[in-house]
Amino acid sequence: MQEQRAQVLLAIGMMHPLYDRMAACGEMDEKHNNMRVCGVPLCPRCFLRRRGKETGRALGQAFADVPNEQMAFLTLLLEPTLDLSTVDAGIQATKRRIRNLVAYQRRQDPRWNLVQLTGWWEMDRDNYGDLTEFGRNKRIAMQGLGWPLFAKRLESTVWRPHLHGIVALGDVTGQEFADALRARGHDAPYQVSLKPFDRDQSVVRNIKGVIRYALKFRIERDFKGASQENCDATRGLGFVRSWWSKGDIREYVEWLMCKRGGFERLRFVVRVL
Ligand SMILES: [Zn+2]
Repeated sequence: MQEQRAQVLLAIGMMHPLYDRMAACGEMDEKHNNMRVCGVPLCPRCFLRRRGKETGRALGQAFADVPNEQMAFLTLLLEPTLDLSTVDAGIQATKRRIRNLVAYQRRQDPRWNLVQLTGWWEMDRDNYGDLTEFGRNKRIAMQGLGWPLFAKRLESTVWRPHLHGIVALGDVTGQEFADALRARGHDAPYQVSLKPFDRDQSVVRNIKGVIRYALKFRIERDFKGASQENCDATRGLGFVRSWWSKGDIREYVEWLMCKRGGFERLRFVVRVL
């Protein structure tokens, strides 16, 4: 955890406007007698706090009283791109499309009045030249979404924006929800994934699990084919962690913190009617 913070500070450098704020995160502010928090999403202290807050919101407000069997975990992939500055337009368009489609469905079918979604945008990255090494499904998905045709170098960074979210379906089936998304501009192969919540786990555990997964803010590469647990195990054996390049970390931080940046901007909510 501390290591990630150090990596981010190293990547942005001391002259960066966010450096002092992030470096002071966790210190006591004597004047106001409280702890300073930086609010930078890549800061482990801050994203752990944020997970707690989002869990509270989900359990106490949005999804209170929704039974497990009406809940699902959504992943929606957007177009991969070499240019991080183009992602916001894609996110805005996607949010608009989803809001419109829910509104449209509600006019046709009152079952949709109870449908709601809380999601968080997340970013991952790969090298341009990695496409051929992806597993089959990921390769098909990325080609379908529009993997860039050219890049300056094989090592050029391709950003992969996507949304993870919790969906309450009411009496709408998961199939209907996923089909509606696919029918309205999200029809690339594997672009929409909707998994019902695990019936053998409590709804609380399921929600916590999704939030932990959606707000992970990882800035390191997994070892090929390795699961999270394997990664942790290999790390314990002294393997070097594979952090993103400084340039990529800096770009990602700046994207996260631009405009009215931070955590709230990553949130996407469609409420019940
Ligand atoms: Zn912080």
